[in-house]
Amino acid sequence: MRPVIVAEGVRRSFGAAVVLDGVELRIAPGEVVALLGGSGSGKSTLLRILAGLDPEAGGVIRRPDHLAVVFQEHRLLPWKRVIDNVALGLTGPDLAGRANVALAEVGLADRGRAWPAELSGGQAQRVAVARALVREPDLLLLDEPFGALDALTRLRMQALLTRLHAQHGFAALLVTHDAEEALLLADRILLLEGGRIVEDSPVTIAQPRSRDDPAFGAARRHL
Ligand code: ADP
Ligand code: MG
Repeated sequence: MRPVIVAEGVRRSFGAAVVLDGVELRIAPGEVVALLGGSGSGKSTLLRILAGLDPEAGGVIRRPDHLAVVFQEHRLLPWKRVIDNVALGLTGPDLAGRANVALAEVGLADRGRAWPAELSGGQAQRVAVARALVREPDLLLLDEPFGALDALTRLRMQALLTRLHAQHGFAALLVTHDAEEALLLADRILLLEGGRIVEDSPVTIAQPRSRDDPAFGAARRHL
């Protein structure tokens, strides 16, 4: 099947520091790929490049038409109501209706008129997910989306992402430093180290996913 995104020879330096040194990556339609790597290994840099947010980067990237990003911080505009944050930049008919559907899908049907400051951290991140979802992405890029949340909220968000993926079938690249989360959510785990993808391991379907899983090799160093 034609990949939803292909990246070849991705390079990025900041001054003398080479952060990405020839990253190759492809993701199949509907596939969930986790990107693991130590702090400062270049995960966010790579995600921004894949999202098309870094014009300085080298390499060749073929992106899908519909791509959406969720960052660790929700990045909602505080002066816009929740529903207007979700609909921001959308075009076409019935923006409010589409935004409300997306809010309902993340369990916030009744919060459209609220201001971002009135939301909990988990709710704000749900709005960020709704803002991505309403764009009907072929590929969702997530940069440690649950990293700032408490453990219970994180579990709920993981379950939400699993449900949305089952319903919508988008491909996803999930940046995380949480190896357990990678094993739980991903079909495949990539490990970024020294500016390159040094491991690329499928996660076998096993219930429950555990430390016996073959993909644990890629994840182990980050536990
Ligand atoms: P990760 O997300 O894996 O923790 P980052 O991609 O944020 O890592 O950063 C990788 C490296 O690139 C770090 O050493 C960081 O300091 C550096 N870096 C990232 N963005 C910039 C920037 N805009 N200017 C200078 N250095 C940067
Ligand atoms: Mg980062």
